[in-house]
Amino acid sequence: MSTSTISTSSLPVASLGTPRIGPRRELKFALESFWSGASDEKALIETGVGLRAANWARQKKFGVNVIPSNDFSFYDQMLDTSVMVGAIPEIYRWNGGPVPLATYFAMARGAQGKAHEASCSHAHHGQDAAHGVPALEMTKWFDTNYHFMVPELAKDQQFTLASRKPIEEYEEAKALGYQTRPVLVGPVTFLKLAKSKDAGFNPLSLLDRLLPVYIEVLRELAYRGAEWVQIDEPCLVLDLDIVAQQALHYAYAEIASAVPQLKVMLATYFGGLGANRDTALSLPVAGLHLDLVRAPEQIDELTGFPDDRVLSLGLIDGRNIWRADLSRLLDRLEPVIAELGKHRVQIAPSCSLLHVPIDLALETGLDPEIKSWLAFSVQKLEELTALGTALSDGRAAAEASLKASDQAATSRKTSPRIHDAKVAARVAGIDEPMRFRASIFAERATVQRERFNLPAFPTTTIGSFPQTTDVRNARSAHARGALTDEAYKLYLQNQTARTVRWQENIGLDVLVHGEFERNDMVQYFGEQLAGFAFTAHGWVQSYGSRYVRPPVLFGDVSRPKPMTVEWWQYAQSLTKKPMKAMLTGPVTILNWSFVRDDIPRSEACRQIALAIRDEVADLEAAGAGMIQIDEAALREGLPLRKSEWKVYLDWAVDAFRLCSSGVRDETQIHTHMCYSEFNDIIGAIGAMDADVISIETSRSKMELLDVFRDYRYPNEIGPGVYDIHSPRVPEIGEMTALLKLARMRLSDTQIWINPDCGLKTRKWEEVRPALANMVAAARELRASA
Ligand code: GLN
Ligand code: ZN
Repeated sequence: MSTSTISTSSLPVASLGTPRIGPRRELKFALESFWSGASDEKALIETGVGLRAANWARQKKFGVNVIPSNDFSFYDQMLDTSVMVGAIPEIYRWNGGPVPLATYFAMARGAQGKAHEASCSHAHHGQDAAHGVPALEMTKWFDTNYHFMVPELAKDQQFTLASRKPIEEYEEAKALGYQTRPVLVGPVTFLKLAKSKDAGFNPLSLLDRLLPVYIEVLRELAYRGAEWVQIDEPCLVLDLDIVAQQALHYAYAEIASAVPQLKVMLATYFGGLGANRDTALSLPVAGLHLDLVRAPEQIDELTGFPDDRVLSLGLIDGRNIWRADLSRLLDRLEPVIAELGKHRVQIAPSCSLLHVPIDLALETGLDPEIKSWLAFSVQKLEELTALGTALSDGRAAAEASLKASDQAATSRKTSPRIHDAKVAARVAGIDEPMRFRASIFAERATVQRERFNLPAFPTTTIGSFPQTTDVRNARSAHARGALTDEAYKLYLQNQTARTVRWQENIGLDVLVHGEFERNDMVQYFGEQLAGFAFTAHGWVQSYGSRYVRPPVLFGDVSRPKPMTVEWWQYAQSLTKKPMKAMLTGPVTILNWSFVRDDIPRSEACRQIALAIRDEVADLEAAGAGMIQIDEAALREGLPLRKSEWKVYLDWAVDAFRLCSSGVRDETQIHTHMCYSEFNDIIGAIGAMDADVISIETSRSKMELLDVFRDYRYPNEIGPGVYDIHSPRVPEIGEMTALLKLARMRLSDTQIWINPDCGLKTRKWEEVRPALANMVAAARELRASA
């Protein structure tokens, strides 16, 4: 029954994957240098070899017994899988031989196009390759901020073993003395996340063509000495239909019969198995990994698992940066492991550590108390080793680690840095009137119309103007101390003044200040709010060579002083036109941060909402008539399972209402969402009750407005008419055509005219003619309407 390969004396520590970017972002610099032509293929490949060797060594050093290989990637593991199985769309003109790096990167980033430059924290790229080959589509990996390249499969798709990367990296590790457990993205998850240009075609139907390639890889891994492989099927935490369930049965039965000598650790993560439990348990695999951080209730069901199955317990949070409470974990685990028997248990992070920064030791500037609460990938491995020791040899054997963990847990429970009685009192004092505007939209709209007296189809922009190299250089010079506060402020004032004057000259109706003073739409606010900390090296891969450094929301949030009022005042002082104030909303601030795990997310969000509410009040008091509260990340916070959507949307909408409802009727609240799928959330959008919402629509031919029409959405809407993800300047006629489509779905009094999103990633040479054309389109429309 038991699997003899795992020694019974100590509990193995397994790693499902490790960050690939390097502690000092070595991979980013190597990639970008290669792409720019400054270094050659050989240098890039050597960097990869070095990073992998360092990753294996680091994991071994920190006590990992089950070390992964093939978790490294130059760009993305889904792209690697597409290439492995030869799923390379024709436009990339692959000739069937070994896949050149140039082809790989063309799929990742497009060819002859420039990569997205500035700091757009969400995913839009590949679009710039307007004149060459476009990149594959990119989308978020489950509910993470990691973006993968979406496999593109045709109805008549053929698969073939086109890249031997899993085998090569297994051999590479072996040559260095590591017996690894290679990682593959599972065939069902791969197909389930794939897209096809052929309408109505389900890529899952390609499974029987795909499996032979997987089997070829698995056979060869087994032949070369691999005992185990890890196959990731995170689709097992989604709502699965019968087709997907059957696909799983079929795939793993085929694999088991074709490669019986190889043991498969089937990895699930980002949630619980839920209704897929029976499916998962009936698959003929040697091991099953469960995420016990996201779905801790699964601990109680373990003893019902088939006893020939090795269980990999995902105990340490691979999605967040908090130090674990080891004693509490042991309290839960000891009885379960006693019952299961040590021989069938491994302990592991909940998922790959790809989603957390590498090493907390690099954070020399962090406040020591805050630092004592955190664990990055290296520290998480140390925690696992301590857990493993305590579970196999008793707690005394891990005394020092347990003591440090206890101390951190106690200090987090009581530290005045975290707990602010004033914030608690304010949250407790939230009442119904705080969630409602004084009047309904129709009445507010009447007073707002009188106040602003805007023309029909008013024109505006979303907030930011180009963050040029010049602007970024000034910011970093100021951060270095090379530019004084005074000089920097003067510089920003000049940028702002020029931008305001320019907007006035071209005839925009509602102006913005341009956001030149902001490094990032979340960080800028986090830095001014109590309760947030920032790391120096806490980079996490977002996509390709683009990494983000999310703020750490560690404590109760409050706003010591106004954050944006001065810049708004300065900008408004330059013009008689309405100057729209610009804020980031509570849900977006939350969703783009590492969030504390000692209170519910909803609670943390409510605290941020109160802080933003204060800012809204101060802006109104200073005279701002229009205040935009961006909720760019509201939709991406949707839970993976539909059954959990309502709870999330309820508190997300509640937070928005809390921050925006304290204003008078004549103050116009705007919001902005830069995506184009509203079917699932239109009810929530309605409940937010913003006076004006601007959305991304230019690429969807206004079809997404159907859902607003069908819902009879009554408030005002600015459907984007200018695709800011492309350097191309839209013609007047294209924009009037889009507006014509919008008018078929909305009433004229609802419509605003604006770009899809902020302009920070564009160049002034593109923005100037594009916005001038947009204003001209509005004028044409007014003349003809
Ligand atoms: N106001 C922000 C900007 O214009 C909004 C950015 C966003 O939605 N991602 O840059
Ligand atoms: Zn946007």
